[in-house]
Amino acid sequence: MPVQPRVGLDLLPDYVAGRTVPGAIKLSSNETPDGPLPSVARAIADAAGTLNRYPDPSVSKLASRLAEKAGLPAEQISVGCGSVALCHQLMHAMCAPGDDVVFAWRSFETYPIATGIACANPIQVPLDAAHTHDLDAMAAAITPRTRVVVVCNPNNPTSTANRRAELDAFLDKVPSDVLVVLDEAYREFVSDPEVPDGLDYVRTRDNVAVLRTFSKAYGLAGLRVGYFAGPKQIAAALRKVYVPFSVNSLAQIAAMASLDAEDELLARCETIVAERDRVRAELIEAGYEVPDSQANFIWLPLGDKAFEFSEHTLANKVVVRAFQPDGVRVTISHPEENDLFLHAARSYQSDRK
Ligand SMILES: *Cc1c(COP(=O)(O)O)cnc(C)c1O
Repeated sequence: MPVQPRVGLDLLPDYVAGRTVPGAIKLSSNETPDGPLPSVARAIADAAGTLNRYPDPSVSKLASRLAEKAGLPAEQISVGCGSVALCHQLMHAMCAPGDDVVFAWRSFETYPIATGIACANPIQVPLDAAHTHDLDAMAAAITPRTRVVVVCNPNNPTSTANRRAELDAFLDKVPSDVLVVLDEAYREFVSDPEVPDGLDYVRTRDNVAVLRTFSKAYGLAGLRVGYFAGPKQIAAALRKVYVPFSVNSLAQIAAMASLDAEDELLARCETIVAERDRVRAELIEAGYEVPDSQANFIWLPLGDKAFEFSEHTLANKVVVRAFQPDGVRVTISHPEENDLFLHAARSYQSDRK
């Protein structure tokens, strides 16, 4: 018999990234439409001359900056190659084979993959009718085998967020030995003041962690850097399962330069948020159901028409992300690109009449 990978690995789904189609507008990966700021690009270029040296293995400067910003000791921070890598580290650090990880479905596709690679069981709890995490059902899904509960807030791909009162009530119910991870990849696009900042929970509760990334609001998706903030013993465990040197020097430098330019980057987010609200209003006007969005994308719960819709926009040179048979996720971009998408969405409606 030929050599084979371990039993069960072939049963796990592959990670499917948003498509890139040459000549078409890409609204399929929740990236920011603008490149790095000139100051960030300059810092990266300046650092190129030192690439014969290994990166700082403990990512110490960036970790201290992030700790200071979060109002936490640096030992509660662990930097990784984006929150996707941190998610994998987390499952490896938290779960023994056969342990349970609870998360909502549909949610970020990394969760079932990272859970399965760590030989843990994914416990998927359906979203509620408003396409939001059903926190009561998630609390009820916790058993003595549960090690981690992931709450993606706002949720990818449905864009909806859970509010403070319901999160408070949920956290009160979770046993103290179960880690609740709030994946806040889109935190900077949240405009509803009732959606809490997860770092407030990290500061006040011993079993809550937050994942943040430089890939979205900070525009560094290509460099791969994100961080975990949570209980210090878990941050230490993440550092233990970290692949040495994997957060590269340019990523460390660029993340720090982006923190220096934070005001400029957050101003860009405000523009995206205004566009998001405009696009959503126009889609509702055109007859679509569009859940409230707290992210840089919107969700069209088109059910089994998801794929057909995405083929229609593609024919109009706009790439969106279909999650057959649930819906379509559309990233918010510059006004001209959003208008091309809106045009395609309207023509889809009129073709079907
Ligand atoms: C985009 C995204 C991330 C960020 O991934 P990186 O690995 O940091 O690029 C994390 N979580 C969710 C839910 C996302 O949508």
